[in-house]
Amino acid sequence: MPDFMPGSVWLVGAGPGDPGLLSALALHALDHADSVVYDALVDRRILALARPGAGLDYAGKRGGRPSPSQPGISAHLIELARAGQRVLRLKGGDPCVFGRGGEEALALAEAKIPFRIVPGITAGIGGLAYAGIPVTHRDVNSAVTFVTGHSSDGAVPDGVDWEAIARGSPVIVIYMGLRHLAAIAARLIAAGRAPGEPVAIVSKATTPDQRVLVSTLAEAAAAATASGIEGPTIIAVGEVVRLRATLDWLGDIGKWPGAG
Ligand code: SAH
Repeated sequence: MPDFMPGSVWLVGAGPGDPGLLSALALHALDHADSVVYDALVDRRILALARPGAGLDYAGKRGGRPSPSQPGISAHLIELARAGQRVLRLKGGDPCVFGRGGEEALALAEAKIPFRIVPGITAGIGGLAYAGIPVTHRDVNSAVTFVTGHSSDGAVPDGVDWEAIARGSPVIVIYMGLRHLAAIAARLIAAGRAPGEPVAIVSKATTPDQRVLVSTLAEAAAAATASGIEGPTIIAVGEVVRLRATLDWLGDIGKWPGAG
């Protein structure tokens, strides 16, 4: 394993929840960090793996509320590194997938702080795998789009060309999409997607509280409200969702011979 040098920052993805999905580099960083600066989405069971005596620092953002500010977080990382600490910046999923890892890395580069990026398993791939949904499947899709359903001001992102995605991407994986799901689904249907196309909403993926709601494009938003499903949720739109009927390995584990 590479040395975790004092005065450096590791930007590390913690994966979607299950501690078993941490990389060996992420575990190494947890073992050696002096300070762990973590986000709201980092699982408690993962924080519990930090070296005893490491400082734990919450830098969370929740529901679009910017608290503390992104420049504030970057400044804090720089300050800790300049004080000679080994700084572990721990983020849910992958740090560079809708996680502002790039912004923090730019700030570190500008401040001439040495840093390393440790990728993590992103919710849009690993979370769906835990629901028995492969993001690509031969004969179904040769392309997949990862898109945010929420811009920094809380609206349906206008910077997203939903019509183009509807036409060009047989599978669409939506992060932060629950709040605006009705509006997003309406735009996809208006652009030609079938109202009956399957949609899966995976809540708290890879954690013991994982829930999966399968519905259709036309009905998913109402079904989500009726079910009371809670965030964080990752949403998959497309025919790959149908594979879950056969591939729900997690739900099936208790049914295997010899299972307790
Ligand atoms: N960097 C993260 C994404 C951060 S944006 C990653 O790569 O996964 C936050 C969004 O990610 C949430 O609103 C949700 O859409 C998704 N997400 C993260 N963890 C999740 C989980 N365990 N289950 C379902 N969705 C999750």
